Amino acid sequence: MKKISIIIPCLNEEEALPVYYQEMSAVMEQMSEVEFELLFVDDGSTDGTLNIMKEMNQKDGRCCFLSFSRNFGKEAAIYAGLKNAKGDFAAVMDVDLQDPPELLPEMYRVATEDGYECVAAKRSTRTGEPRIRSFLSEKFYQFINHISRVRLVSGARDYRLMSRKMVNAVLEMSEYNRFSKGIFEWVGFETKWLEYENVERAAGETKWSVRKLFWYSLEGITGFSVAPLSLASVMGMVFCGLSFLMILFIIVRTLVWGDPVSGWPSLVCIIFLVSGIQLFCTGIVGQYLSKTYLETKRRPVFILKESSREEKENSGCLKSCSQS
Ligand code: UDP
Ligand code: MG
Repeated sequence: MKKISIIIPCLNEEEALPVYYQEMSAVMEQMSEVEFELLFVDDGSTDGTLNIMKEMNQKDGRCCFLSFSRNFGKEAAIYAGLKNAKGDFAAVMDVDLQDPPELLPEMYRVATEDGYECVAAKRSTRTGEPRIRSFLSEKFYQFINHISRVRLVSGARDYRLMSRKMVNAVLEMSEYNRFSKGIFEWVGFETKWLEYENVERAAGETKWSVRKLFWYSLEGITGFSVAPLSLASVMGMVFCGLSFLMILFIIVRTLVWGDPVSGWPSLVCIIFLVSGIQLFCTGIVGQYLSKTYLETKRRPVFILKESSREEKENSGCLKSCSQS
C-alpha cells in the first residue's frame, strides 16, 4: 500500500484546523487505496493551534505534528515537513482550504497512472484577492522569468504532490534562504499542472502582508538570479559613456562660445541622480552579500520544540554542520 504524507504549515490557524481536518477526512475516505500521514507543522503559533494538533494526534493516529521553537516561516515549515515525511509521495497543502483537498485524488491518479514525478496546482483566476496584490504578483513573475533561468508559473501554488525521488531532490537543497517555488522548478522533473478556480480562505486571516510578500519576492530574485548584480556594471558603463560625451560637448562649447556660468540646477539634479543610482547598486550588492553572509553561517533552517514523532529530524541543520 502506497503512503502519502501531507505537509500542512500552520501559523495561528486554530479556526481553520478543524474545518481542514473535516474536509481532508472526507478525501482520505474517498482514497481508501492509499495510506495517509497528516504532518501538521506548527510554525510558532501563539494561539491554541498546537493544542488542537495534539488533540487530533490523540484521536487519529494519522495526524502527527511538529512544533517549532518560534516562527521560522512557511518555507522552513515546508522543509521540516518534507524532512520528516515518510510517504512514497508527499504533498504540501495550506490549512485554509485555498489548496482544495478535493484535487488530491486527481493528482494521485495523474502521478501514478500517467507517471509524473510531480503534479502541481495552479490558480486560473485570482478572484477575491486585492487588485494591487494580483498586479504586483503578475509583475514579479514577469520580472523573475526574464532574469532567471528557472521558469516560475504565474498562479502556481506550493500545493503539489511529489514522488519520493523529487522530495529527496528538494531535500538536497538545504540552503538557508529558501524559496520553494524556485526550488521545485530548479530540481526539474516533469510536472503536470492542474488548474482550479481561486478559493477564498475558509477561516482565519492571511498571514502575508504586501510588505512580507515584497521581501519574499526579493528572496526569489536573489536566490535564483544574479542578473541584478551585473545591472550595476551595465549602468556604470552606460553612465561613464554618457559623461564622456557630456565632457566633450562642454569642452567644445566653452572653446567656441565662452563659458557663461549657468546650469547649476541641472548639475545638482545630475549629482542627485547619479548618487541615487550608485546607492541603488550598492544596495543590490548588499542584498546578495547579506544572503551569502546568512548562508555561510550554516544555521539550521528550523528548530523543533516538540513533536509527536519519536525518531525525528530535530532541526534543519545542514549536512556539513552536523559533520563538523
Ligand atoms: N504560514 C506559516 N508560517 C508563516 C506564514 C504562513 O506556516 O509565517 C502558513 C499558514 O498557516 C497557511 C499557509 O502558510 O497554512 C499559507 O498562508 P496564508 O493563507 O496566510 O497565505 P495566502 O494564502 O494568503 O498567500
Ligand atoms: Mg491562504
